[in-house]
Amino acid sequence: RDAVSADADTDERALEGALRPRLLEDFVGQERVREQLSLVLRGAQRRGRAPDHVLLSGGPGLGKTTLAMIIAAELGAPLRISSGPAIERSGDLAAVLSTLHEGEVLFLDEIHRMARPAEEMLYVAMEDFRVDVMVGKGPGATAIPLDVAPFTLVGATTRAGLLPAPLRDRFGFTAHMDFYAAADLERILHRSAGLLGVEVDGDAAAEIAGRSRGTPRIANRLLRRVRDYAEVHGDGRLTRDTACAALALFEVDGHGLDRLDRAVLEALCGKFRGGPVGLSTLAVAVGEEPETVEVVAEPFLVRSGFVARTPRGRVATPDAWSHLGIAPPPDAAF
Ligand code: ADP
Repeated sequence: RDAVSADADTDERALEGALRPRLLEDFVGQERVREQLSLVLRGAQRRGRAPDHVLLSGGPGLGKTTLAMIIAAELGAPLRISSGPAIERSGDLAAVLSTLHEGEVLFLDEIHRMARPAEEMLYVAMEDFRVDVMVGKGPGATAIPLDVAPFTLVGATTRAGLLPAPLRDRFGFTAHMDFYAAADLERILHRSAGLLGVEVDGDAAAEIAGRSRGTPRIANRLLRRVRDYAEVHGDGRLTRDTACAALALFEVDGHGLDRLDRAVLEALCGKFRGGPVGLSTLAVAVGEEPETVEVVAEPFLVRSGFVARTPRGRVATPDAWSHLGIAPPPDAAF
């Protein structure tokens, strides 16, 4: 990767950070999750104890990291951040756990991707605030118990179903984050536009919100692309026309489907005549990992009624064919 695109990535990440709400009351949408979480946090504060461990489940960009940061901020506690893939051995986890301070919040992103032995160590730490560190190998190996300061684990996963039950059961509260309603995305866009110092028409915000796949991260990203377009081709003001022109340029269609979504639909209808087809076969056809198709593209395609999941595989719905503008074969499955 050249330096310029690395810088651009850093800029995008910095912007994303700048747009994060800091407190629960600034977190838009997900009313139920907000209410439940607020209760959990207030209850714990009242008792003067670290709150129960929290599991956040939901697709990428729906606000899991943001909520983890908010939990720490609301508790006035420091936040430690790590992730499942970063924990390859139980020793990696022991190193993190043994240096936690009392009341600290530990955020483990992609917790379903943690190594199995570390997972087992985590159960014990969550329940008994203890880790057993193995010293030596073979018959002479001994477990040395170490105390862990009472902490709150906030785990995030795009796939709660993949978590082993013993781990899932040790979370006192699980929040399911769903796609956002268009009205919530509009509020997020107006808030972000304010923070970025750009003027956005109501129409433009509605247009961007409608094409954001129910996802705040995508809404904020499209907002930045529309802003680029408005600054280069217009007077910097975001109107519906600039929004439509910019979104067309970046190949985001009227339903918000992006390249990957369309590739999946096109493969499903074109190559597999509407299915049913298995997820991994479909993933190979579009040149992606099955997990990417399952986590990134499929939930929104199912939500929008373009794809149905059946026991025999994925099937294109009549809406999928009409969205692509092609007639389904007479024997199409739906
Ligand atoms: P995740 O961890 O689920 O992938 P993030 O928490 O990183 O998602 O959120 C992605 C971006 O979307 C953040 O920059 C944040 O500004 C924005 N965002 C997410 N949820 C909300 C929300 N409820 N209100 C306002 N902005 C949000």
